[in-house]
Amino acid sequence: MAIDLPAYHAILAVCKSYQATLVAVSKTKSVEDIRALYNAGQRDFGENYVQELLEKQPLLPADIRWHFIGHLQSNKVKQIAPFVHLIHAVDSVKLLQEISKQSAKYNRPIHCLLQVHIAQEETKFGFDEEGLQDLWQQKQLSPEKFAAAVLAGFMGMASFTDDTQQVRKEFQQLKTIADQWLPGGILSMGMSADYQWALEEGSNMIRVGSLLFGTR
Ligand SMILES: *Cc1c(COP(=O)(O)O)cnc(C)c1O
Repeated sequence: MAIDLPAYHAILAVCKSYQATLVAVSKTKSVEDIRALYNAGQRDFGENYVQELLEKQPLLPADIRWHFIGHLQSNKVKQIAPFVHLIHAVDSVKLLQEISKQSAKYNRPIHCLLQVHIAQEETKFGFDEEGLQDLWQQKQLSPEKFAAAVLAGFMGMASFTDDTQQVRKEFQQLKTIADQWLPGGILSMGMSADYQWALEEGSNMIRVGSLLFGTR
């Protein structure tokens, strides 16, 4: 499946009007497809699986900014630590500690986002709002505690539903959290199905896959 260049340029224009960053989600897609989008000017790419990222990264240009957007196990951080640009889905203090450790080891501050569970669907991943509040107040998540890693913002995924109001409400919830704890930071929210609402609700980084690369 070829990439959709008109869709790419249209989404890019929308991002520009919101001063948001487009992360092209290339999981399961070929190195050729990624290179085609790279040649069109794209530099930020997102992957979900460590093994897949490790296979693709050496085959592609070195100035690609690789975003790790999937669930990350602590024991795999060291594999992507030398080159990863931003880790989006930090969902435990343990993982943040490990990222900080690897940041120190490689002497490069790894930027990361805390994943907040805002959707209605049950999932194991992401902090819930109360848990986050507790950790924040106990200074378990304070930037000073993780000197080597850089807490740069928040990330979330809205419910899979056609209910626009519900999706907007969830994005608003995350925006409020982000403004409260890390104002001016990165707010990664919005995917192919809902990025326009996410931008309207204050997202400054969207993660779009299927609209660019076709369905998986
Ligand atoms: C796959 C994925 C995306 C992109 O999803 P599309 O619907 O293809 O745009 C965005 N964020 C995360 C965390 C993903 O896993």
